Amino acid sequence: MNMDISRRRFLQGAGAGVAGTALGAFGFGGVEAAYAATVKEFRLFRTTEARSTCPYCAVACGMMVFSAPSAETGRMEVVHIEGDVDNPVNRGTLCPKGAGALDYIRSPQRVKVPMYRKAGADAFEEVSWDFAMERIAQLMKEDRDANFIETNADGVTVNRWPTMGFLSGSSCTNETGWITWKVARGLGMLQIENQARI
Ligand code: SF4
Repeated sequence: MNMDISRRRFLQGAGAGVAGTALGAFGFGGVEAAYAATVKEFRLFRTTEARSTCPYCAVACGMMVFSAPSAETGRMEVVHIEGDVDNPVNRGTLCPKGAGALDYIRSPQRVKVPMYRKAGADAFEEVSWDFAMERIAQLMKEDRDANFIETNADGVTVNRWPTMGFLSGSSCTNETGWITWKVARGLGMLQIENQARI
């Protein structure tokens, strides 16, 4: 093999395709093709990403959730989760619970529909979202009608609903939190809490 190759000759060889690349010019033409064949496609290359919030604890770390079409169903399913580097809360990190959220999503025990246990029944049954919302709204109205306090002992208007509380989750956005606050306070609730501390 002639190792006396000028810079011009070297660059000419590199620009002439695999057979004529730099390695090819040195007589190793098959090496690059073999190496290229070992390089796997980036595993998130064909995924769709979405930003979310870890639902586990009050830290409320930001997550990047990657989805791809399932080979079995054709529907999109979550294939990977990692910390969101742009989120100021966690800057790309996740604790072991958050890092294992994929198992939580895929768990066969995961509850995906409202469950209802009738008074006196010993088991829950699946119900529609419409049923659940109607039932909750009805119970809230009954309780508010029975316990709402318009004025205190001095006759001052207070508009309190002391028998109802509201708990919001860590996955709620600022906007959801704002609306939650407005609705709960507007109805007169005093006990309002949010899981997240952000
Ligand atoms: S990743 Fe860990 S610390 Fe962050 S919100 Fe989830 S459970 Fe909490």
